[in-house]
Amino acid sequence: MNIKFVNFSDGIHQFDFDEKIESLQWGESPFIGSLLAKVKMDKSAYQIVLECSVSCEAVLTCDRCAVDFRKRLDNKFVLTYIFTRDKINEDSELDVYYLAPEVTSINLASDIYDYLELALPLKTLCKDDCRGICIRCGTNLNESQCNCNQEDENPVWGPLKSLKNNLE
Ligand SMILES: [Zn+2]
Ligand SMILES: [Zn+2]
Repeated sequence: MNIKFVNFSDGIHQFDFDEKIESLQWGESPFIGSLLAKVKMDKSAYQIVLECSVSCEAVLTCDRCAVDFRKRLDNKFVLTYIFTRDKINEDSELDVYYLAPEVTSINLASDIYDYLELALPLKTLCKDDCRGICIRCGTNLNESQCNCNQEDENPVWGPLKSLKNNLE
């Protein structure tokens, strides 16, 4: 995921990446398959601005039924690189980097990782209406019914049931 920007003239350049996740050296991660990235580079004498749009599949575990499933994640972000001879504290501003004059390329792998992580859902569900697991017998209720009294046991009905109890 390197952009060797010194090879390019000032102006706009487009890059398309299609990289195997294993080649990105992310170590253990939920991401699998290929990372697709479109990068628009706007290069000038003073700075480089990269508009990135990334897409990748992840293997996630459903919070409700504990089944692993694949989900496509997408995100967009802008990174700015300012050419400077001075050492500047990089913590000061988000997504702004400073490049010393001897630097010739930009590696995007770790920023892309961060933005894919941000695209992970807060609540991980295999589908919006996942029925979960019967807490009595462990049956995955998406796949089959069990013989337990589901009205009592399915946690989905818990809030409704307590509401009903309160009304009675
Ligand atoms: Zn589920
Ligand atoms: Zn059951």
